[in-house]
Amino acid sequence: MTEPWYDLSSVTPVARGARIAIVGAGIAGAAIADAMSRRGVDAVVFDPDGPAAGASGNPGGLVMPRLDLGDGAPATFFRDAYLFALEILARLDPAGAFFNRCGVTLKATDDEERARQVRLLAAGALPDAHMVSRNEGLHFPTGGVVDPRRYVSALLGDAEVRRERVIAIEQADDLLLRTKNSTDRFDGIVLANGREAIRLLPARGLPLTGVAGQIDHFPRVEPPVGAIAAGPYLASAPGGGILVGGTYDRIEAFATPVATTASTAENIAAAASLGVVVPADAESRPRAAVRCQTPDRLPVVGPLPDWGSYGGAYDDLRFGKRGPYPEATYLSGAFILAGLGSRGLVTAPFCAEILAAQMVGDAPPASPAVLAALHPARFFIRDYKRARPGKAIDQSQRLRPETNATD
Ligand SMILES: Cc1cc2nc3c(=O)[nH]c(=O)nc-3n(C[C@H](O)[C@H](O)[C@H](O)COP(=O)(O)OP(=O)(O)OC[C@H]3O[C@@H](n4cnc5c(N)ncnc54)[C@H](O)[C@@H]3O)c2cc1C
Repeated sequence: MTEPWYDLSSVTPVARGARIAIVGAGIAGAAIADAMSRRGVDAVVFDPDGPAAGASGNPGGLVMPRLDLGDGAPATFFRDAYLFALEILARLDPAGAFFNRCGVTLKATDDEERARQVRLLAAGALPDAHMVSRNEGLHFPTGGVVDPRRYVSALLGDAEVRRERVIAIEQADDLLLRTKNSTDRFDGIVLANGREAIRLLPARGLPLTGVAGQIDHFPRVEPPVGAIAAGPYLASAPGGGILVGGTYDRIEAFATPVATTASTAENIAAAASLGVVVPADAESRPRAAVRCQTPDRLPVVGPLPDWGSYGGAYDDLRFGKRGPYPEATYLSGAFILAGLGSRGLVTAPFCAEILAAQMVGDAPPASPAVLAALHPARFFIRDYKRARPGKAIDQSQRLRPETNATD
């Protein structure tokens, strides 16, 4: 049963034929534009830098599953997200123009990972057609390398993209979206602008942080057959040569990421560990970007809570009271899809499908446990449950790659 603080019954549906705004034209924003247009809702997408300018603008990225043991919400979410991404890519790119279905091998680098992979296979963590055992590790024959910019463009379809930065969202009778030069009304707004979402009032307080990363494209290095991952990954680049990435580097809040020769050296070492020698003086085209991540490494997907009312309604959680508690209330028409971490090229379409269903009042394609695991209020509720009166609430986050990271 859904806990009251994750209950969605008070979400006012966005009517078919309505007009919504999406903040951010990366894979998150593009995927929600696609999912909403399939439901008869047009979107205006705002991004000062145009489509695929942030993390979604890398020269290539892996589409491979993250597999967790067990049948908990994260395991179910990541498995279903992978299978859904393959469906979307089959629809958008049946001929393989921007998704190279070359297969991806997840190398087992130590005994612990080897044992984990044996258990994943035994448990049938993915249907047989999607996962086989190989000497060096698990092989995903349906995975591959995508050109993120073309992927974003295909998802955006004919959605209107305005090259403007959203500077404020205000709730009057309906939702007002302000840019430097304009103020416009919308029937719904989706924040899909990564870590920048917390600059806008409805998402302030969410623990979204940035982790910088660099990918290097070596255009003159012979590519391997298929892609290989073991933390870092190595794959043939959509435009020729190889891609190696990505590094994990600390970055100040909202700072602009910068490519460095030290990170290129790190990627060259990673390529060697994956079996490809890249000469130290090889021509490189590095690109640095920022992943937006959450403390539990799951995305944030859902309606944005009415934070003021949450505080009052659930204060007794801090005293361990069992309830009864009222059902959750939300800011009318305000939604979020962010925190895609290292997996956004795989998880964004499924997150968008869930969110679009929530927005129009359809049944989402995920269990209540998965919806709760992605719910924007989960950190707030966990902190309330953990807190004791007088004890400070700690939202500290650590910089570390996700388990079984692809980059
Ligand atoms: C080095 C590296 C390698 C990676 N490799 C992989 C991989 O192999 N496979 C994989 O699945 N994932 C990979 N990822 C992760 C993936 O790139 C991200 O999860 C994904 O791109 C995030 O998409 P997004 O749309 O949430 O954010 P972004 O692509 O960053 O888009 C956010 C957009 O919001 C815009 N914006 C910000 N503020 C505003 C505002 N106020 N108004 C309007 N627009 C605004 C920005 O300009 C930006 O374009 C990698 C990431 C990095 C950094």
